[in-house]
Amino acid sequence: MSDSWLSEFAPRLRELETRNLLRRRRVVVPENDAYLQVDGVSLLSFCSNDYLGLANDPILRDAVHAAVEVYGVGAGASPMVSGFSEANRALEIELARAVGLPRALYFYAGYATNASVIPALVGADDDLFSDSLNHACLIDGARLSKARIHRYEHANLAALEALLGASTAHRKLVVSDAVFSMDGDLADIPALLALCQQFDALLMLDDAHGLGVLGPQGRGALAAANLVDDQASDRILYMSTLGKALGVAGAFVAGNDTLIEWLLQTTRSYTYATAAPALLAQALRASLTCVLGPEGDRRREHLQSLIRQLRSGLSHGAHPALDACGWTLMPSTTAIQPLVIGSSTQALFLTQKLRERGFWVPAIRPPTVPQGTDRLRITLSAAHQSSDVERLLNALYELAEEQLSATPR
Ligand SMILES: *Cc1c(COP(=O)(O)O)cnc(C)c1O
Repeated sequence: MSDSWLSEFAPRLRELETRNLLRRRRVVVPENDAYLQVDGVSLLSFCSNDYLGLANDPILRDAVHAAVEVYGVGAGASPMVSGFSEANRALEIELARAVGLPRALYFYAGYATNASVIPALVGADDDLFSDSLNHACLIDGARLSKARIHRYEHANLAALEALLGASTAHRKLVVSDAVFSMDGDLADIPALLALCQQFDALLMLDDAHGLGVLGPQGRGALAAANLVDDQASDRILYMSTLGKALGVAGAFVAGNDTLIEWLLQTTRSYTYATAAPALLAQALRASLTCVLGPEGDRRREHLQSLIRQLRSGLSHGAHPALDACGWTLMPSTTAIQPLVIGSSTQALFLTQKLRERGFWVPAIRPPTVPQGTDRLRITLSAAHQSSDVERLLNALYELAEEQLSATPR
């Protein structure tokens, strides 16, 4: 056993630990608003993707209770067998309408959607073009497809244009996050779409962090780019998850009728996985109604004011100690507000210090982000109060001052 490769897992784990890369799960219990009990201690959370504060909303809870009475709990089988409920069917119609595309297909998880939809679209001999900061499941889907992968520098559309121009493949797929999950910045969708038209490529957009938050009524990145019910959107395969601003779980793709029918027929994670339970679809329908209505507008306006407050408190010149420490706020306009710290040790230290002060702000380290850009990924939610943001700002100022007085100059 001792010279078997099976004995290598323990030293490999120890190596991760010495490099400060070991990840640890915490048992959490939701409390009120943005508070979570974490390993028994109440913390103000700045790490959730529940951007509108809907995950524990009574509207969603009531929808689930009512759905259990009608549909029971488990879906029982794949949607291709007996797992496709009236609730799932209605949700697909409402999702398609919300994002302004003809048809949608509802999946049980976002990861499984991307990992499996891409191989249904392209294969060996095809070319796939991928932004270097795309989410892991887009990367995994690209690899599974066996298409030739051309990774272009983040948001560098001239580089993408050159790669598309050099491609001789019959099928070309451009894949991009719409909101980049670790940086919070937005893809230039009209420009991506123009390139896809020019080179006869299909554009696949992952709007996990945009739906519910961006555009009129929170209808997502396409609506924000004025591409709802647009001719050009025939070239778009839109994807979003339903466990972030929508507050539940799952994902969907949307596009023209033929494209969605193709994915229904050929996506393996759709065919060979048990359908999402109808109770989740019913929760999602309630959530979507809220997102699209006046309550959604109210929550989005509140979220925007929190984003402005945090940005003005952390931007260059807001506090001398922050600048002296070299902590830099990334230029994001979304609810994802990363503060780049630099090293894993420093980022983890800050997470720990914030925790001692009652805040939960996660440190994001390689391989999730590039080396040397370790960061605190602060996410805001409509569940936060303005006083919550103020307390976080003051804690960060104090920690910056402590760090400066601790470092000999
Ligand atoms: C969270 C996320 C996913 C995965 O979705 P799940 O439903 O959580 O599996 C996919 N893409 C992006 C950009 C994400 O942020």
